[in-house]
Amino acid sequence: MSAYQHILLAVDFSEHDDLVAQRAKDLAEKYRAKLSVIHVLDNIPMPDTTYGTVIPLDKDSGYELLEAEKARLMQIGDQLGAAQDNRWLVWGAPKQEIVQLAEREQVDLIVVGSHGRHGLSLLLGSTANSVLHYAGCDVMAIRLLNG
Ligand code: AMP
Repeated sequence: MSAYQHILLAVDFSEHDDLVAQRAKDLAEKYRAKLSVIHVLDNIPMPDTTYGTVIPLDKDSGYELLEAEKARLMQIGDQLGAAQDNRWLVWGAPKQEIVQLAEREQVDLIVVGSHGRHGLSLLLGSTANSVLHYAGCDVMAIRLLNG
């Protein structure tokens, strides 16, 4: 297996994030790879801003909900030691945004949980399944036990 150079961790802010993040961090250390992290906002209404779908992390939006999501991503980014430029908060459909960002940023490994908020009863959640099907790079699904 060739060395990975850019690993993208997708976090859904579920209770599984810590385990999935730890695996991504271990892999990034092992391969001395750049580590990026993405969270896709699919559960809060998009406020009326001049932003596109990529939310700037260094500007106060004035929206409490959005700022809370940002703070969560920043906390995970800090734990991972991911550079500020490698933290992504994006509006949209998770499966689509994760795959698109991976292509744009030349990611060669995407790390997801086997299921998260959407797929507790499934072996492989719907986001994990779609990313696996549509990504143009390797995908590692970290097996998570239900509950
Ligand atoms: P799911 O297939 O939706 O049950 O979730 C499986 C995995 O996909 C999660 O453990 C995350 O790694 C990723 N994922 C799901 N939703 C999101 C999201 N909104 N933003 C980023 N990653 C996500």
